[in-house]
Amino acid sequence: MQFKTIFEPFRVKMVEPIRMTTESERNEFLKKAHYNPFLLNSDQVLIDLLTDSGTSAMSSRQWAAMMEGDESYAGARSWTRFEHAVRHVTGMPHILPTHQGRAAERILYSHLGGPGKVFFSNTHFDTTRANIEFSGSEAVDLPCLESADRESPFPFKGNMDTERLAKEVETRGPANVAAVVLTVTNNSGGGQPVSMANARAVATICHRFHIPLVLDMCRIAENAYFVHQHEPEFESKSYLEIAHEMCSLADACVMSAKKDALVNMGGFLTLRDEKLTHELTNLLIITEGFTTYGGLAGRDLEAIAVGLEEGFEPDYLRYRARSTAYLGENIRAKGVPIIYPVGGHAVYVDAGALYPHIPPHEYPGQALVCELYRLGGVRAVEIGSAMFGKYDAEGQLIPAAHELVRLAIPRRVYTQSHIDYVSEVFDAVLANRHNTHGFKITFEQPFLRHFTAHFEPLG
Ligand SMILES: *Cc1c(COP(=O)(O)O)cnc(C)c1O
Repeated sequence: MQFKTIFEPFRVKMVEPIRMTTESERNEFLKKAHYNPFLLNSDQVLIDLLTDSGTSAMSSRQWAAMMEGDESYAGARSWTRFEHAVRHVTGMPHILPTHQGRAAERILYSHLGGPGKVFFSNTHFDTTRANIEFSGSEAVDLPCLESADRESPFPFKGNMDTERLAKEVETRGPANVAAVVLTVTNNSGGGQPVSMANARAVATICHRFHIPLVLDMCRIAENAYFVHQHEPEFESKSYLEIAHEMCSLADACVMSAKKDALVNMGGFLTLRDEKLTHELTNLLIITEGFTTYGGLAGRDLEAIAVGLEEGFEPDYLRYRARSTAYLGENIRAKGVPIIYPVGGHAVYVDAGALYPHIPPHEYPGQALVCELYRLGGVRAVEIGSAMFGKYDAEGQLIPAAHELVRLAIPRRVYTQSHIDYVSEVFDAVLANRHNTHGFKITFEQPFLRHFTAHFEPLG
């Protein structure tokens, strides 16, 4: 008998209460937070879909491993376990631990980048873009053409446009290209997966022009699930084998362990080149820590080593992909415009299409995150012009390509009834659709402004 319910493949061993709030309380909280959900306290939130980063529930095995943490400054046992686990996935000879993904990015991109250089990516994630631009380089997104069509059933909308990549490299001159960054899955591009065929085509171009290929492998287990699902060549390969093969195409990998490694803090940088490793080790020691801990406690290294195994377990990955799709398919059936098919870690709502009456410079995505919080206590994040908007010389907003809102699903944290509730909150959002107004920014910082910006409602 084949049952159709896919239940959470774990039992709850410890609980964390959620404090209930009313709509009028939330209106006050939102106002005090300057209409920026990043500025809310977590106990003002009912269901927190702000990010899947560092919000995973760890397993009993991970907690047990933490007790085994060796806190020696140099050469700790925990480091050996961590190094072994990272090498098992990536196959890379040189491994540098970092306190989180952006530290790995800063070390690598500040070295490869600098003024006059350019980076190409399927889509730069916000910290990736910020680190590249902070070094004085330019970050250019080359998403595949299929990604522009929200409803196209193409299964790998996270792919890079390889035709454009080859052209851009020739026009700019290969010597000016610092690196190509392939992000799997493509977080800012709707959490959509990247096919092995595309990764191979990108690698071929990089090798031809002697440009380093960096794999941002935050969600490589989820990506492997989709490769297994949709590329017949990989039908009989394990998720780990698929990940391993993708890493084998790259010259370097960066990973935020806060995603598919199922921990609350950690990251790493892996490298093939020995000379580059020596140069980057200096940067690591100056700002992160010694080479065998890199800003992490021994217990963190242990938790990552176990998490890297659990993140590739077939039962877990199947549940993970299905539960994310469950939310997406439910709200899509109600008429909420989402990026379809649903990716691995989040559902992306097209707020621009949901609120056609709110122009980009009034931030339709910000309007939706405020509605979700106000009406239902659900916290989500804007991925549109508040996050990626720039100003031209006249101070006019250059909008982002899409006005999205991301509902990121923390790993192993929420049950189906939490998700059913979120889906119901969308009924209220839809009912109030035509009375929803835009926002203006009243305070902002030059980099990563969405974290701290203040907004005021219009109309
Ligand atoms: C989260 C993330 C990062 C940055 O990692 P942190 O651990 O948050 O510093 C980089 N790239 C992608 C694609 C991410 O999702």
